[in-house]
Amino acid sequence: MPSISYYQGRSALQNVQEALQAAKKYDKYHALLHLTEKRALERAAQVDNGAISGRLAGVPFVVKDNYLALDGATTAASRMLEDFETPLQATVIERLEQEGAICIGKTNLDSFAHGSSTENSAFGLTKNAIDPTKVAGGSSGGSAVAVALGIVPFALGTDTGGSIRQPASFNGVVGVKPTYGMSSRFGVVAMASSTDVMGCFALNGKDAELVTEIMAGNDPKDMTSLPDYFKPLEDVSSIGSLKIGMIGDFMTEDTDSGVRERVTEYVDSLKMAGHSVSTVKLPMAKYSLAMYYIIVPAEIASNLARYDGVRYGSRAKDTTTLDELYGLSRDRGFVAESKRRILIGNYVLSSGYFDAYYQKAQQARQLLIDEFDALFAEFDVLLSPVVPTTAFGIGENTDDPVKMYLSDAMTVGVSLAGLPALSVPAGNANGMPVGVQLIGQRKSDAVLFALAKSMEATDD
Ligand code: GLN
Repeated sequence: MPSISYYQGRSALQNVQEALQAAKKYDKYHALLHLTEKRALERAAQVDNGAISGRLAGVPFVVKDNYLALDGATTAASRMLEDFETPLQATVIERLEQEGAICIGKTNLDSFAHGSSTENSAFGLTKNAIDPTKVAGGSSGGSAVAVALGIVPFALGTDTGGSIRQPASFNGVVGVKPTYGMSSRFGVVAMASSTDVMGCFALNGKDAELVTEIMAGNDPKDMTSLPDYFKPLEDVSSIGSLKIGMIGDFMTEDTDSGVRERVTEYVDSLKMAGHSVSTVKLPMAKYSLAMYYIIVPAEIASNLARYDGVRYGSRAKDTTTLDELYGLSRDRGFVAESKRRILIGNYVLSSGYFDAYYQKAQQARQLLIDEFDALFAEFDVLLSPVVPTTAFGIGENTDDPVKMYLSDAMTVGVSLAGLPALSVPAGNANGMPVGVQLIGQRKSDAVLFALAKSMEATDD
């Protein structure tokens, strides 16, 4: 599978044409919602004539269709935004373009990023790159599959509760969830503003780190973006021997035995590489799904209130009353999962229930953060599986939202605490990829990359 270096120093036009051809060849996976062919070819010509240069000159990539990006609609895989053409681009896309990268298309996702399988897209599901009878994972399923199929060497996704890490794990690629606030959220359709982060998929740690470095940095247009801090470590061996804690709560019988085996093997190779690994407890972890599915719907209900067919979003036709206009626009514009979350969110925020649910969940969130902080006082890195299972069958969990939510059990806590995490491939179980989650203290992203890269080298 060609990584970034394959594309560097070649004709940008050739790169773009090859990527477009591959996208068409793999059409049946439905990783892409549309191609940004016109703009990609224009930019390729500019790279080839020297008007644009940079560290990613002529390297093709794709973006999840909830990033505002030029050339065609930004739909968030929803009917609500199916005709929305953006006048501006997300800050992180601008940064990648300044380095010469070329976006060739927009990828499929669970509508508004609500889901764990990319089956909630209003435009049809995406299939897993390894086994097309299985789900892609989600919500950034299209981006993960595009990289796993080799259409492009990297892709952008968003991760609110696992949407980069989980599909990376399901398709055997590297997924990056940076520290909350490291890269700008400006120009990306908001899901839950207190946990949304912008990250990438790539084939190896080196590529993922380079893309992350370009995306990172303060943005005055995003109030929550942190001052610049991310800098890759020049020498991976400078991390020395790390103290790593394996989260025991995620290695119980609730996790598939094949997944546990691969994680255990990864732990063994960490030890062989000179790191110490011991099992640690994170007792609040068992409440993290409950917290997440209160706090995040509350933020979703607030963020999605703007899409009413009047202020934002497509408007229902032939309505006679204002109520009907709002009601029908939202009914048509949102998929069932988004409606469920809007209902839950408004419920937990309503007076009478606010204290019992939303407030409680925020208090529990603080306890979880305290537990993570206590562990990071002692350990450099924490480790766990990314998902309790490998990719499940298409349609297997669609009738049972709670079963679907279980897929997020090991990723949502990290999001609630704003921590950085990588999903790195760790072999297969029953023929399907398994990912290991490497978790760091806030702002320690560079250590995670160094560790992941050093382990890739050991694997060779
Ligand atoms: N699967 C999780 C959810 O459905 C995470 C989604 C995300 O990170 N966007 O909320």
